[in-house]
Amino acid sequence: MSDKSFSRRNFLKVSGVGAIAATSLNLGGILSVPEALADECKRPENADEALKALMEGNQRFVDSQKKGPRRQAKCRKEAAAGQNPFVAILACADSRVAPEILFDQGIGDLFVVRVAGNIVNPTNYGIQGSLEFGVLALGAPLIVVLGHSECGAVAGSISALQKGTEFPGSINDIVQTIKPAVDKAEGEKGNLLHNATIANVQLGVEKLKNSDPVISDLVKKGKVKVVGGNYDLKTGEVKWIG
Ligand SMILES: [Zn+2]
Repeated sequence: MSDKSFSRRNFLKVSGVGAIAATSLNLGGILSVPEALADECKRPENADEALKALMEGNQRFVDSQKKGPRRQAKCRKEAAAGQNPFVAILACADSRVAPEILFDQGIGDLFVVRVAGNIVNPTNYGIQGSLEFGVLALGAPLIVVLGHSECGAVAGSISALQKGTEFPGSINDIVQTIKPAVDKAEGEKGNLLHNATIANVQLGVEKLKNSDPVISDLVKKGKVKVVGGNYDLKTGEVKWIG
């Protein structure tokens, strides 16, 4: 089976309403993937393979054995004809948390949405809508919500909530979105920042799993998995959150 047919098959399988979605979203150009991708340009086809690829890439990064896959001109040119990312990632905007680097992946592999505190905020349709587009239109079988150690957005939220202060502009929206995670963590033993960071990821995963109508439907049908992870700035390791 060619990669072109795989891409379309995957999209149709994932969306369940492929023809309608493709028409309404006018995705013809995006879905076009070259016929003959070389082995090094191929990507995982399901959530388990995608997770395995991320874990292997992160281990290479931790060990300073990065391969820098799919960055050759050949893969870049082929990806230019149509993208087929194998995972949609919601990560923090923190300059030290670059998914392509810490997972050692290449061009066209990761559909990345980055926002301070890796928040899932239903009132910010751009965040959720981007992730929905990644799985529905582009066929990524996996969503990862990625928090990280020493997250300034979470730490700042804890401080603001404890002191009763407010940030100017729209920053306070981030604080209010993170607040339920801080509330949960305050009732737990251990380090408040770490626990709030983990809770923020867990709440984000649950929000996405239950977000109607796109992601919740794909999750129920077993076509998309949503998982959480936490990246350690010092060790470079991503630990998955159950
Ligand atoms: Zn952060």
